Amino acid sequence: MIVGILSLSSCKVQKIVDEPKEELSQVAKSTTTTVEPELTTEPAKETSTEPATTTIAPTGIDPEVIKPNELGHIMVVMYHGIMDNPPYHRTKEEFTKDLQTMYDLGYRLITLDEYLTGRIKTEPGMTPIHLTFDDGLDTTFALKKTADGFTVDENTAIGILEDFCKEHPDFGHGASLYFHDTENNFGDVGTDKDRFDWLLEHGYELGNHTATHDNLSTLTEPEVIKEVGRVEKYVESLYPDMKLRVLTYPFGATPDDAFYQSALKGEYEGTTYDYEIGLREGPSGPFRPITHKDFQRYNAPRVRGSEGENGDLYWYFDYYEENPSFKFVSDGYPDAMYIPEDWEEGLSDYAKENFSIIKY
Ligand SMILES: [Zn+2]
Repeated sequence: MIVGILSLSSCKVQKIVDEPKEELSQVAKSTTTTVEPELTTEPAKETSTEPATTTIAPTGIDPEVIKPNELGHIMVVMYHGIMDNPPYHRTKEEFTKDLQTMYDLGYRLITLDEYLTGRIKTEPGMTPIHLTFDDGLDTTFALKKTADGFTVDENTAIGILEDFCKEHPDFGHGASLYFHDTENNFGDVGTDKDRFDWLLEHGYELGNHTATHDNLSTLTEPEVIKEVGRVEKYVESLYPDMKLRVLTYPFGATPDDAFYQSALKGEYEGTTYDYEIGLREGPSGPFRPITHKDFQRYNAPRVRGSEGENGDLYWYFDYYEENPSFKFVSDGYPDAMYIPEDWEEGLSDYAKENFSIIKY
């Protein structure tokens, strides 16, 4: 609970980038097409283990109808717990409203893995969104004891999300939760291992929110390494083969530029860590996908899951309703990227090397 209050008092408000002008100028700049569209009738050769029934051939959709844009923005929403303490927490009613609004506006949940790889399985025409929960709170997730084990507490964020997803099976499923190296993340029913096991078995993903929620911008390099590495060492003690993939910076504060990278890749007491991305606090933006050349891997943006302020979740709902061309709209095919041809210059090398790019 204390960390939640710290978050509230010390949040670093990020500057909101004036995205419409930026993307519009990008569109205006685009003149000739230099790369031929790579039209393929077969899925790109990949090591994907995805069942064939869930894939759709790249030519199986009409882009003029669904207007896919797989370089458009994907919001990553930052939540904490379920309590009446805005703007960092949501009540049960508010969180349910958020989920319903996402659903009604055509957003569909994706996993952290889909976000990190760009292999988005969202159905054609819909917009992916990923939910994150910081601080390891007992109102984010907790277990309840049953006769034969554990079940999720239905009044926690994950309990509410589970119920909503059951009622709306096409909403998708999943979220990622970020915790500390205490032994009482997510309440005190069961052990941390019991709680992590439940989350992992139900399709949720775990990430590092540092050992003690200290402000990384105030620490020395050895202190930063200890703050980050202690969590990885704790995870290693529970799951010897597991490595966390994402770090969320407490208060959105990154370490001193001189040793910035030490928070993301390093070694602490023989345990190594190597994060694919670092997520900052909301409000921030623009929400480019990992396949965009300007994706900020180690300072990736999140939107705060709240209502009533510039740059929060509802502000962005309105923004994307007014600027639908900036949204990521799925083509339904994880190994292909349909993009409007004017967006081509946004493709990263990673996108060009790993996806069938189809311009229209
Ligand atoms: Zn936090």
